[in-house]
Amino acid sequence: KMESLDASVSRILVFVRLRPMGKKERENGARCCVKILNKRDVYLTEFTNENDYLRLKRLRVRHFTFDSSFPETTTQQEVYSTTTGDLVEAVLEGRNGSVFCYGATGAGKTYTMLGTMENPGVMVLAIKDLFAKVRQRSLDGNHVVHLSYLEVYNETVRDLLSPGRPLILREDKQGIVAADEVMALLQRGNQNRTTEPTRCNETSSRSHAILQVIVEYKTRDTSMNIISRVGKLSLIDLAGSERALATDQRTLRSLEGANINRSLLALSSCINALVEGKKHIPYRNSKLTQLLKDSLGGSCNTVMIANISPSSQSFGETQNTLHWADRAKEI
Ligand code: ADP
Ligand code: MG
Repeated sequence: KMESLDASVSRILVFVRLRPMGKKERENGARCCVKILNKRDVYLTEFTNENDYLRLKRLRVRHFTFDSSFPETTTQQEVYSTTTGDLVEAVLEGRNGSVFCYGATGAGKTYTMLGTMENPGVMVLAIKDLFAKVRQRSLDGNHVVHLSYLEVYNETVRDLLSPGRPLILREDKQGIVAADEVMALLQRGNQNRTTEPTRCNETSSRSHAILQVIVEYKTRDTSMNIISRVGKLSLIDLAGSERALATDQRTLRSLEGANINRSLLALSSCINALVEGKKHIPYRNSKLTQLLKDSLGGSCNTVMIANISPSSQSFGETQNTLHWADRAKEI
């Protein structure tokens, strides 16, 4: 779990979440190539002769281990409590933090972050939890919560909620925000995400969605001086991490592809620079890292959730995602 709150530099916590096999994948003859044991160990099996069931051979098994690994049966609540619960607590103490979902298109990033009406994800559960905690503390002082839901697409930032102005929710005005209200709000925002008519990617695989929650707290000390603190939590549904060249849209989409890679690449460079304890962190290299410059590194809490599919048809992407996550863990 989270390191002590006053550690001057927190390391990045890295989690892996395996989604269940889809119906279509099963019908297409996909084999399960990922197994998670002991809530930590991930085993990735490489098969060969994919199309010939009788001659299907297991080539080799690779082993990875993370802070926690979530098998396909893990609930949204479990994922939220393990990965993000402590960051919500920290944000109320005036600290910044960020949670990223990383992985190929279709691996379960949006399910993890946003979820469905029946199974709300990390964004919704975090806001719900935050408001419950603010309510508990409302006698101690005044909290104001600002929410913004942004998209970075093609190195342009767009407001997904209320184009033009950030949304402000005030706890002191009967601020009881129901989870389904937040869900509806975010669902609507998500429908505003840029969609593209590519062959293999249905929605928004090239856009990053960023929910930023700012909590402002004001109270007076015994001599009636105003004390205030501000914390910020950023929850990020990253663009698909598969290579732009993996689709056949490369000519049309090369500009976008380059820019997507720019934000993901810039994020990787920032993380690498942080790992190496560099003085200069290249936050200015992309819109995404500019938005996150006060929420990444230093004393901020950073959490990565790597989403993977169990299907042997996604073996390559899963392997890339696990390698990336394995590297982020070194921090
Ligand atoms: P991504 O955002 O990474 O492209 P999605 O979150 O859209 O992927 O997931 C792809 C599909 O798999 C969706 O239909 C989603 O509902 C389903 N799915 C993903 N993760 C889970 C899960 N943990 N449990 C059940 N269904 C899931
Ligand atoms: Mg998605």
